Amino acid sequence: MYDTIIIGAGMSGLAAGIRLAHFDRRVCILERHYTIGGLNSFYRMGGRDYDVGLHAVTNFSEKGARHGPLAKLLRQLRLRWDDFKLAPQLGSSIRFSDAELNFGNDIALLEAEIRKQFPGQIDNFRRLVASLLDYDDLDGDDPRFTRSSREVLAETISDPLLREMLLCPLMWYGNARERDMDFGQFCIMFRACYLEGFGRPLKGVRLILKHLVRKFRGLGGELKLRSGVSRIHVENGRAVGVVLDDGTELQARRILSSAGAIETMRLCDDITEVDAARAGQLSFIESVSILDCQPRELGFDRTIVFYNDSPEFHWERPENALCDTRTGVICSPNNYAYAPEEGELPDGVIRITTLANHDRWCELNEPQYRAAKLAQYDRAVEASVRFMPDFRSRVIDTDVFTPKTIRRFTWHDNGAVYGAPDKQLDGSTHLENVFLCGTDQGFVGIVGAIVSGISMANRYCLQDP
Ligand SMILES: Cc1cc2nc3c(=O)[nH]c(=O)nc-3n(C[C@H](O)[C@H](O)[C@H](O)COP(=O)(O)OP(=O)(O)OC[C@H]3O[C@@H](n4cnc5c(N)ncnc54)[C@H](O)[C@@H]3O)c2cc1C
Repeated sequence: MYDTIIIGAGMSGLAAGIRLAHFDRRVCILERHYTIGGLNSFYRMGGRDYDVGLHAVTNFSEKGARHGPLAKLLRQLRLRWDDFKLAPQLGSSIRFSDAELNFGNDIALLEAEIRKQFPGQIDNFRRLVASLLDYDDLDGDDPRFTRSSREVLAETISDPLLREMLLCPLMWYGNARERDMDFGQFCIMFRACYLEGFGRPLKGVRLILKHLVRKFRGLGGELKLRSGVSRIHVENGRAVGVVLDDGTELQARRILSSAGAIETMRLCDDITEVDAARAGQLSFIESVSILDCQPRELGFDRTIVFYNDSPEFHWERPENALCDTRTGVICSPNNYAYAPEEGELPDGVIRITTLANHDRWCELNEPQYRAAKLAQYDRAVEASVRFMPDFRSRVIDTDVFTPKTIRRFTWHDNGAVYGAPDKQLDGSTHLENVFLCGTDQGFVGIVGAIVSGISMANRYCLQDP
């Protein structure tokens, strides 16, 4: 009998597992995939290493920092700053057709840019920053949390273009809701992206995952890969254990699930029907280009460019198309200030993310699917080179993954990257001993998912002796 079974070896599941193993709880993480990482995993293809999800780790802090979510999560997991070894970004940009704002890991740059590009708005911007809800005090019961960010922004920032530009990166990096964003989530993402900023380990997400899994196993935690949970067995309103895809039964006093809210309910054998419409709809297609040179040699020194080709930012699932390339994220993992002794990435890499419709991708048969991947790669690159130097003649290899790929390897409904729009901030489910962690509990991204795993483990599994 385990104290806790954790469903999923993504960032949140591994973090929760470390907390529990540290306090000598008998804990087992069950993962359906043959590897760890979930939405933020890695793979090797054609002799090259690729990250699935990592553009940037948000909430950057320098070595030695004692405050902020990154410092806090390292303390909680007893990890060292060097275990993540984040190099700071060189600098990022928000590029709309007729306007650009640069930002970095110090809010002063964004402020200076707003003073220059939107002089009439600088005081309003400062007022907005002063009014942000404090990350540490964020509470889902606070009525301000679920207010419309578009409405709150309109009360302070009178220029609609500036509002759209500020929203663009924050929605791209952490908003599960179409068209608008909960103000609480806006505050979390504002701090994560604009106040703290971006970093990345030279070795990518592998390094972070390697340290998480080592720590977990070193503390005596059990990790079972290729061990999908097909059912959560419920007796008298309590979960008593799980049944794996191969029929093995395991018992536990409680279950922490990072599979998603709807996905977890569907596993419970006391539930016959779930409302699938509550699942998230927003998924991405990622087009990766390997270059024969460093992007800086082509005049591209941006870490991330969040682009949008009209004054209004459209954040919604493309209804009748495979993808929507009107907005996107261009990222170069080369453009971080890696320590000189670490060297550089061996290849130039440009990653482009655009919004995609999971159902449209799943309707295609295999030959159509393969052809669509090639066509959409071309479209994504064509859209992106309006906002960066044209790199097409320097491409030596490519890869594309779609919402179908994301679903196939993470089992999230609709391949939704940020989960359901309505978060369950207290992590509770209809069962008294089954709890959510990760994306559908409320926090997204790498840091968010780790924070979620820690806080749910602390709240529900460590209080109870
Ligand atoms: C293309 C892309 C780019 C991204 N870029 C960034 C970025 O630059 N920065 C950033 O911070 N974040 C980024 N993210 C988001 C980030 O990866 C996620 O928010 C975070 O990893 C979510 O972690 P999680 O633990 O909540 O969920 P997941 O990683 O989804 O973990 C859930 C795990 O549960 C497993 N599972 C599901 N069902 C079962 C079952 N029945 N039995 C057993 N196991 C099961 C899944 O296989 C998965 O491993 C990106 C994501 C994608 C897809």
